[in-house]
Amino acid sequence: MKTFLLLASMVICFTGCRTMEKEVNIDNLKFERLFSWGPPTNEETAEKYAQAGVTDIIVYSEKQLELATKHGMRGYWTCFTPDGPHCQVMNEQETKHFNYINGKDLDPKMPRDERMKITSMRKGEKNHRYGGEMVTDIDTLNDAEIKCFISDDDLVLTKKKLDRILNTAPAGVSGIYIDYIGYMNHNGCYCENCLAKYRKYLSERKLEDTTKNKNDFYLGQLVDYYNNVIDYIKKQRPEFKVVMHAYPDFKPLPLLGNRIKADYCGQTVAWYFQWPKEKIQRYTKYVTEHAKDYYPNVEGIPFQGVNTNSNISLGYKTPADVEREIRQILAAGGRTLMVCDGPSIIEPDYFDVFRKYCGKENHE
Ligand SMILES: [Zn+2]
Repeated sequence: MKTFLLLASMVICFTGCRTMEKEVNIDNLKFERLFSWGPPTNEETAEKYAQAGVTDIIVYSEKQLELATKHGMRGYWTCFTPDGPHCQVMNEQETKHFNYINGKDLDPKMPRDERMKITSMRKGEKNHRYGGEMVTDIDTLNDAEIKCFISDDDLVLTKKKLDRILNTAPAGVSGIYIDYIGYMNHNGCYCENCLAKYRKYLSERKLEDTTKNKNDFYLGQLVDYYNNVIDYIKKQRPEFKVVMHAYPDFKPLPLLGNRIKADYCGQTVAWYFQWPKEKIQRYTKYVTEHAKDYYPNVEGIPFQGVNTNSNISLGYKTPADVEREIRQILAAGGRTLMVCDGPSIIEPDYFDVFRKYCGKENHE
């Protein structure tokens, strides 16, 4: 009995010490992989990205692929965004919001700077979150209009678009990035075609028109589209790795990424607008620990939004803010990281933070 107690207390002490050690030794922890959404534009930026610890990077030309490869980074051939026969349709209030924050009412001849000043002010006033989790009842995507992919029957347009990308990919690329697979209003598309499909979905299952059923329908359409796109990529190019960021946010289920069979599934754990430590750590744990719940080959990648320009309404982070978040992600078990926008990684001072936590030269 005594031996048992002694052993038990040793185990408790050991576990306790290990937990403490983990907290204390965070300075020695590093990310093993860093995905950049910004391409290497020339020799100098390519070298900087590599020094900062970028391992995986988007490229838009053969020259950029050459630069990435030369500096030991994996290059991914451009970014696929959804296709469909028309743009998504939102409800009246959402459309009004979209037009307002994007300055659709402004004189098209207005100088670009002046226009941006006004739209940035409006976005701030409306607490617009740039496609991230909403903090108001109504928010919509900024600028980008996403095609209604649900209406792309048999993926005719989507496959054509993918073919154009895949057929131009130079030898040596590691795969492809995909983005903007989601809804402009964070909930669904209300074009005639989508609404007809939704009615059919309800009648086939003998369901009522409720918020839950609507959310389930649009979640299903979204996840199916992602996986159909990935299946098609893999069918054409089995060796291609698919890198994604779950964006824009799907309001009913922010962390839906583990339902998607991308090889590297980036999900937001730290948005441009600063989130509390508790949320960053909870999301990091979920993104990494539940990545394989549906598909065994998925790697869950914590995504961090970084904006280094304090003059726009997008959330701004100082290098110290970025470092604090990075340490929180590391402490929560994140060992890979995805960052947008990419060039922020190599901005002065921010570069030092990324090199410290992602750079290879100090790797132990
Ligand atoms: Zn639609």
